[in-house]
Amino acid sequence: MTQVYKNLIGGKWVEAASGQTFADANPANGEDVLGRFPRSDARDVDAAARAAASAFERWRRVPAPRRAEILYRAGEILVRKKEDLARTMTREMGKVLKESRGDVQEGIDMTYYIAGEGRRLTGQTTPSELPDKWAMSVRVPVGVAACITPWNFPLAIPTWKVVPALVAGNAVIFKPAEDTPLLGHLFVEILLEAGLPPEVLQLVHGTGEEAGAALVRHPLVNLVSFTGSSEVGQDVAVACAKEHRRCSLEMGGKNCILVMEDADLDLAVDGAVWGGFGTTGQRCTAASRLIVHEAVAREFTDALVKRATRLRLGDGLLPETEVGPVINEAQITRVHRYTEVGKTEGADLLCGGAIAREGALAKGYFYRPTVFAKVKPTMRIAQEEIFGPTVTVLPVRSFEEAVTVANGVRYGLSTAIYTRDVNRAFRAMGDLQAGITYVNAPTIGAEVHLPFGGIKATGNGHREGGPQVLDIFTEWKTIYVDYSGRLQRAQIDV
Ligand code: NAD
Repeated sequence: MTQVYKNLIGGKWVEAASGQTFADANPANGEDVLGRFPRSDARDVDAAARAAASAFERWRRVPAPRRAEILYRAGEILVRKKEDLARTMTREMGKVLKESRGDVQEGIDMTYYIAGEGRRLTGQTTPSELPDKWAMSVRVPVGVAACITPWNFPLAIPTWKVVPALVAGNAVIFKPAEDTPLLGHLFVEILLEAGLPPEVLQLVHGTGEEAGAALVRHPLVNLVSFTGSSEVGQDVAVACAKEHRRCSLEMGGKNCILVMEDADLDLAVDGAVWGGFGTTGQRCTAASRLIVHEAVAREFTDALVKRATRLRLGDGLLPETEVGPVINEAQITRVHRYTEVGKTEGADLLCGGAIAREGALAKGYFYRPTVFAKVKPTMRIAQEEIFGPTVTVLPVRSFEEAVTVANGVRYGLSTAIYTRDVNRAFRAMGDLQAGITYVNAPTIGAEVHLPFGGIKATGNGHREGGPQVLDIFTEWKTIYVDYSGRLQRAQIDV
C-alpha cells in the first residue's frame, strides 16, 4: 500500500485543497514508488502564508539562542538518522549511496554551523558623531520566508535555507522539489521532533507551476529564497520585483576545469571524472567543460574516455555502482537531445551518447557517461547547461585563451585550474569570472562555512553558506539613542 503524505500548515498535517496527489518514484526503478504527495495550489499556499504570518509574530520574540537550541537538536537527530536518510535519498533521486551520505552530512554541518549563529547574529556598535548619542546596527528577521528547493541535494539545500531562516526568527514556507518530496517531509519531521513549534514551519508540496508560482506571488511572503534553473529563477525575480520583494537566487552553471600543460594529468583526470560524472553530472557545480591545453589534450582525453567508459551504471544502493540514473524521463530526453545537438554541431563523440537499457537498467533512466572532444566554445553543448553525464573537451593554445573560453558563457558558478605554476594559479583566481575557484581540485566540494553562489546568470548577488547567508534572511536595522536630553542635529550641529 503506497503511503500518502500531507502538507504541514498552521501546525496540522492536511491534504491539498484539490484533494489530488502525485507519485514519488525511484528513478533507478520506476516500479518502486516511495509515496504520494499533495498536489497543492494557490489555496494551500494562501493558507500556509496566513499561518506563517501569524506564527512569525511569536517566533521572532523567541530569543535567538533558544531558537538555536532547537536547531542543535535537529542536527543531533540528523546525525542519528544519517544512514536511513541517505538510503531513502538514493531511492528517491538516484545518486550513489556514498554521495547521499555526503548530502546528509552537508545538512548536518550546515545545521550545526548555523545553530552557532543563534549566539552571534552580530551587528555593529560604533561611535556617533554627536556627544551623548549611541549608534548601533542589529539584524532583524524579514518575516515570512518562502524556501523553494531543487531535487539534486534534497536535504543539504533545504538546510541551507530553512535553518538560517529559522535561526534569524523568520517563519518559513518550504516547497521541496516535486521529484524529492519525501526527503523534504523527513527533514520537516526532524525539525518538529527537535521541538520546533509546528506553526513556524509550513510544508507545501506540489509542482513549480502550481504551488511554486503561487508562493512567489503571495502578498504575505516577504522573501523568496530559490535554488533551481536560471529560467525559473528569472520568473521568480520578475514576480518578486513587482511586489518589491527580496529574492535570493541560486541558479544554473556551466562550470569548467582548466588543465594546463604543466598539470599533474592523473590528478586532473581524477578531478574531471568526479567533477563531470559525480551525481551523474546533476550538480549545479558539475564540471561540464574541460578546457585543456593542446599540448596535453590528447593524453588527457584518452585517459578520461578510458575512465568514463569503465564507470559502472546502476542502482545507487548497490555497492558496485559508480553512476546512478538521471532524475526523470524529461531529463533523460533532454540529455539525449544534447547528444544529438553535439553531433550535429560537429563535435567528436568519443564515448557514451546513449540511453542504457540492458538488464535492470531498463527500469530506470540511465545514460552512458558521455565525452565530446574537439568542442568549440560557441557550440551549444559548450554553452548550455545539460545537467547530465555529458562533458565537453575544449582544446586551447594558452592560459590566456583558456581564461577567455572559461569566461565566455552566461553562467558564473564554479571554476577550477590544474597547474603546478603558482603564478598562473593566482592569475586564475583573479581572472576567472565565477563565485568559486578551485586550484588543483575539481569544481565540486564546497564547505558550509564559506560563501556559496555565483555571478552572471547563476546568481543575483547573494551568497548561501558562510556568515553571508544571514544577509538573505535578515534586515539590517540601524538604531540611534540620543541621551543628551536636547535636540541634536547630525551634520548640522558640527
Ligand atoms: P527547477 O528550476 O525546475 O526547479 C527548482 C524548484 O523551483 C522546484 O521546487 C520547482 O518546483 C520550483 N519551480 C519550478 N517552476 C517554478 C515557478 N514557475 N515558480 C516558482 N517555483 C517554481 O530546477 P530543478 O530541475 O529542480 O534543478 C536543477 C537546476 O537547479 C539546475 O539548473 C541547477 O544548476 C540548479 N541548481 C543550482 C544550485 C545553486 O546553488 N546554484 C544548486 C542546485 C541546483
